[in-house]
Amino acid sequence: MPLTLLPQDNLPRIIHAAPIGICITNAEGRFEMVNPAYCDFYGYAEQELLGQHFTLVVPEAERARLTEQHRAFIHGEADQECREEHEVRCKNGERRTILAEASRLVDAQGEVKKVTYVVDITRQNALQRRLAFLASHDELTGLLNRRAGMSRLDEEIRRGQRYGTLLSVAIIDLDHFKRINDRHGHAVGDEVLCETAALMRQELRASDALVRLGGEEFLVILPGVDRPRALEAIERLRRLIELTPMGQPGLALTLSAGVANWQAGESSHLLLERADKVLYRAKARGRNLALMT
Ligand code: GH3
Ligand code: MG
Ligand code: MG
Repeated sequence: MPLTLLPQDNLPRIIHAAPIGICITNAEGRFEMVNPAYCDFYGYAEQELLGQHFTLVVPEAERARLTEQHRAFIHGEADQECREEHEVRCKNGERRTILAEASRLVDAQGEVKKVTYVVDITRQNALQRRLAFLASHDELTGLLNRRAGMSRLDEEIRRGQRYGTLLSVAIIDLDHFKRINDRHGHAVGDEVLCETAALMRQELRASDALVRLGGEEFLVILPGVDRPRALEAIERLRRLIELTPMGQPGLALTLSAGVANWQAGESSHLLLERADKVLYRAKARGRNLALMT
């Protein structure tokens, strides 16, 4: 099919009516043209933008980087076209995420300009972040889920294998949790799970990982922690849960834990199996107990 050439005077109308934001900036980075969709998106009138530097719509922290990028683009150091996602700032202070595509053009006077096409991807971006979070976290407690926890553990084991760093883990199982559900209802059970998770997370260090393996079972990963200090850390959690009133007045909760120190060459599967075995010894000895292999 032959292309139909548009009469030249239709071009401004097309740019004016375009549903995506389009702007032209000069070599200095000042706006020379902005279409209505561009103005609407940022909340500025056309006259407020023309002549202004484009960093007006960029968060302060990004200004230097984007100014340098603009300079390199105009001088042809970057590709003819560029495509980038970044944060912008609207007139009312609102932060949004855009996908910007730009092309370098030379006008009739031989001056280089940058034409930028802007698409608002704030919603898609937020959705993507939410999906990524849900894929690796447990919905009820917000802790890492089993899959993410296992991959974190394998990562720590690889680190241990490569650099000889220490690593300890603990499997924690809440005691008689079925009774809590039976006596107080499932909703209170859920609340207790959330509070327990939050308390333990607070007590652990930022470098430790806390994972909900499923149900009322948790995995603690303690990178760089030796045998006695691992038992100490888990014993602190045990005391904390024992002493903290939770969910409803009169509700007592305890935990049992099996702590294991990783041995060079050991797989995550074998390590967890050892931790699990001691956990069951702790249960058999009457619960509310942290034991070490
Ligand atoms: P033990 O001391 O031997 O561990 O006793 P237990 O009752 O905790 O052991 P068991 O594993 O038999 O039961 C765990 C219970 O935890 C069963 C289930 O009702 C409850 N549970 C598991 N997941 C959830 C959850 O997401 N919410 C609530 N409310 N309860 C849960
Ligand atoms: Mg239990
Ligand atoms: Mg259990």
